[in-house]
Amino acid sequence: MTQGKVGIVGTGLVGSTFAYTMVLTGVASEVVLVDIDPDKAAGQAMDISHAVPLAHPVQVKSGGYQDLDGAQVVVIAAGVSQRPGETRLDLLKRNTEVFRSVIRSVTGNNRQCVLLVATNPVDVLTYVAWRLSGFPPRRVIGSGTLLDTSRLRHALGEHFRVDPRSIHAYIIGEHGDTELPVWSLANIAGMRLRDFPGHDEEEMGAIFEGVRTSAYEIIRRKGATYYAIAIALARIVETIIGDNRTVLTVSSLIRDYEGIDEVCTSVPAVVGSGGIEKIIRLPLAPEEAEAFRHSSRLLREAIDSLDL
Ligand code: NAD
Repeated sequence: MTQGKVGIVGTGLVGSTFAYTMVLTGVASEVVLVDIDPDKAAGQAMDISHAVPLAHPVQVKSGGYQDLDGAQVVVIAAGVSQRPGETRLDLLKRNTEVFRSVIRSVTGNNRQCVLLVATNPVDVLTYVAWRLSGFPPRRVIGSGTLLDTSRLRHALGEHFRVDPRSIHAYIIGEHGDTELPVWSLANIAGMRLRDFPGHDEEEMGAIFEGVRTSAYEIIRRKGATYYAIAIALARIVETIIGDNRTVLTVSSLIRDYEGIDEVCTSVPAVVGSGGIEKIIRLPLAPEEAEAFRHSSRLLREAIDSLDL
């Protein structure tokens, strides 16, 4: 295993922006870009590596799956996009086919890495990656609601005029329509959010709704989202490489969590060099637990619709 070596499969907007953040932050020492279109991966590697002398000493190159050997983390951002009129289920089926070839090719060359999935629908595809890889569940992670949690903290920071890094509020569940905020445990400086000056239940509801629909809003305006997801992926990779044991809301296989089994979904977890080091069992309020179960049941239905 090469300390700090990171592989990326899928070098479109998300994969390449993530590679760029590796150079800007210096989190990785080596980045290998792989795509079904090798010319595209090579072009991205050239463009990004030209930033190295002005940023951090990171080796950036393109290659084949054999070059993923020794990578500590392999990020999967490969996927096909939705065709006009295509349902989300049909898209899921096509991306599951992409994963059949991608996961087999990655694990054929590297059986020790942590797999980090970004491709949507990320929770179901994290489950698919786990099943197809045969890896222990702790080494298969989806970016999950880390991005949504970041969006929520950003909006709350604006509302309360507090640095978002001082706001402890999480979004859990599916990265998508059925995600939920855990208001009952949200706090600033250990003080419950609902007791904090400026708290207003209706405004909190509107803030969450804005977060839940923000991907649609960004895609409507500019066609895709990639900056914030790239830094969310970078944060996860930094935590794995540094064995930082940071608490992050990422997607992973949960078992016996609020009565839910065998689904990949997001809850806060301690992340370190082994991947998921510990899943944190939140004392959810009854209505939050019910919303979490509902979200998980829909994810399970999507998994059951696949022929894995
Ligand atoms: P994109 O179309 O720009 O890039 C996808 C890349 O995957 C392309 O370069 C394509 O050549 C490659 N690819 C396709 N099939 C492949 C295969 N079989 N093997 C290797 N590479 C293959 O798309 P994007 O905007 O970069 O988005 C990528 C994925 O990330 C999408 O599924 C998108 O929905 C998802 N996404 C997730 C989040 C999140 O929060 N998890 C946020 C934004 C985007």
